[in-house]
Amino acid sequence: MSVDKAFRDMIRNEIDAQLKPLRDVVSRLEAGTADLDALRNVAERLAPLAEVVGPLFGAQAPAGKPGRRGPGRPPSRATLSVAAPAAGKRRGRKPAAGAEGARDCAIRGCGKPSRTKGYCAAHYQKLRMLEKTNRRPAAWKDYAEPNSVEDIKLPRGRAASKALAAAAQAGSAG
Ligand SMILES: [Zn+2]
Repeated sequence: MSVDKAFRDMIRNEIDAQLKPLRDVVSRLEAGTADLDALRNVAERLAPLAEVVGPLFGAQAPAGKPGRRGPGRPPSRATLSVAAPAAGKRRGRKPAAGAEGARDCAIRGCGKPSRTKGYCAAHYQKLRMLEKTNRRPAAWKDYAEPNSVEDIKLPRGRAASKALAAAAQAGSAG
């Protein structure tokens, strides 16, 4: 039990240190010179601390992430100094691109809904390939107007290898 007591003493000291600004504000409140902003600052500073040590003293943890500590394992001092992440921070996927998908692919005559940067999945693949092989036409802009960009026919067979080689050459030259 002595370890437990020492630990609690340590926590109390920590809290005392953290509470000093609060005491300052309280004394200023009593003197009638405190402003509400100072009080709010202190409350914000204490929020993460309360979240960490609250459960130790039987207080209800504020709504939010549940404590993940295993039973009987005291948190290290480091845990105390880590500020809780701001609540309400959203995680996860980006919201679906509302504008995209509603419009058509930028390639003329394609007619498929655009998926990325104004291009349908297939044409975006093609764009990426052209870009990678240094052959992206100037007209294939990001977010080009729907149905406005002329598709290009890629050479096949030997002509394709020649085109690729030429493009690679141009790319390394400039
Ligand atoms: Zn398309």
